[in-house]
Amino acid sequence: MRIPEDPWNRDGFGRRNFLKATCAATALGLTGGALLAGSAYADALTKAQRDKMTPEQIVKAMKEGNERFRRGERKNRNYLREQEASAKGQYPAAVLLSCIDSRAPAEVIMDLGIGDIFNCRVAGNVENEDILGSMEFACKLAGAKVVLVMGHTACGAVKGAIDNAELGNLTRLLAKIKPAVQATSYGGERSAKNYGFVDAVARKNVEMTMGDIRRDSPVLAELEASGAIKITGAMYNLETGAVEFFG
Ligand SMILES: [Zn+2]
Repeated sequence: MRIPEDPWNRDGFGRRNFLKATCAATALGLTGGALLAGSAYADALTKAQRDKMTPEQIVKAMKEGNERFRRGERKNRNYLREQEASAKGQYPAAVLLSCIDSRAPAEVIMDLGIGDIFNCRVAGNVENEDILGSMEFACKLAGAKVVLVMGHTACGAVKGAIDNAELGNLTRLLAKIKPAVQATSYGGERSAKNYGFVDAVARKNVEMTMGDIRRDSPVLAELEASGAIKITGAMYNLETGAVEFFG
């Protein structure tokens, strides 16, 4: 039995029309990833677009994306088009290490799309050798130019580390955050009930994780020293929706 042609089949009618639409959009100057400045239209990043951007421009684009999110705006986006455009290859601009917290999805809070960034997520955004391996792949082999460690306010993992919570494998994970608890200088009450202290520890944890990445990954440290990549941090505020970048 012959299967009727799917109009959106990549090798059929849909693909050609898609390419025609892409060319038309290019002619009008409408294409560009969500990371590209000055474009209201979001599409998957091409290699040429990504390679042209400096690490600073990529950070700036993420900041602008968060500003759009905070204004309740977003780029004109079609996920199916992004999926289609990125199916044959991916050229993400950054690799993120952020918490599993359901309220801090990087693509949403920075108005990014399919193919824009690599994501590593683990409670408390701590590094380990698997995450470092993923980051080395992202930067050295796949060409990402920014490593962003993003913590957030009111982080449950940070609270757990402060409280010495114990549960199965979680105990070992929280142990990786404890050095940040100890290293945080804070004048007030050092408890998980004090949000000021929790957020100060979360910030210190991001700073220390950035240091851990540089120490434990000569590959990334070398890329940073050569200027090929930027390793930086950020804190996401659950209350205000703002991502505060460290640099
Ligand atoms: Zn968290």
